[in-house]
Amino acid sequence: MTYIVCEPCFDCKFTDCVEVCPVDCFYEDEHMLYIHADECIDCGACIPECPVEAIFAEADVPEQWNEWIPINKDRAPVSAQITHKKDSLVGTTAKECKKK
Ligand code: SF4
Ligand code: SF4
Repeated sequence: MTYIVCEPCFDCKFTDCVEVCPVDCFYEDEHMLYIHADECIDCGACIPECPVEAIFAEADVPEQWNEWIPINKDRAPVSAQITHKKDSLVGTTAKECKKK
């Protein structure tokens, strides 16, 4: 199994999650973060850190976000590794992102 970053992360990127990942398996592009399926050890530490509840175990991904499973698997290997928290995308707050 692996863990999956879903739509609430899109254009938010709070990046709190990367600070707790013991294996540094988060990758980013200009819009969001992805979890590398071959590197994630399924520890679950990142789930409570995400202020917009974007992260799910693969088996628990809500049906409407199933498309994000292959997107994480495809995008993580070709995106840039991120291991430290950054500012979220300009002008976004967790509250605004949750409204999307
Ligand atoms: S904490 Fe949540 S919103 Fe922030 S980068 Fe991680 S998955 Fe995306
Ligand atoms: S479940 Fe654990 S290993 Fe996988 S991305 Fe989250 S913190 Fe990293």
